[in-house]
Amino acid sequence: MASIEKTKQYLTDFKIHPSFQRIAIMKYLFENPVHPTADEIHTALVAVIPTLSKTTVYNTLSLLSQAGAIKELTIDEKQLHYDGYIREHAHFRCNNCGKIIDVAIDNDTLKIESLEKEHNIIITDTQVFYKGYCNECKNKFNY
Ligand SMILES: [Zn+2]
Ligand SMILES: [Zn+2]
Repeated sequence: MASIEKTKQYLTDFKIHPSFQRIAIMKYLFENPVHPTADEIHTALVAVIPTLSKTTVYNTLSLLSQAGAIKELTIDEKQLHYDGYIREHAHFRCNNCGKIIDVAIDNDTLKIESLEKEHNIIITDTQVFYKGYCNECKNKFNY
């Protein structure tokens, strides 16, 4: 469980003013590491914060990701998903149920430093996606 105090500190570390709604959204992402969409976050939070608008959720998510506090995942071509876990890791998405899970990835495999040197560039974001069938779907459909 992420405490309000810790979430507040986390936002402050990213130079984000910790408003009540920003704390609620960030805390939700910490506590629900299932890569929710903006709509899913809104539906979950509007139950406890009835005044929370969809626009605020969208704006907050875009602010948080621009500041580097969260990651915006483009693994699903229909909608963006959000991740409060920002350390380098890969994602796997099930073709059948759409579930997105974290997959550990070795930083050496990504060769970020050598790529930066080779091309004289700075890499600020890496998204590694795997797609296929999750354990449940694989068994259910005998893939
Ligand atoms: Zn599945
Ligand atoms: Zn993730």
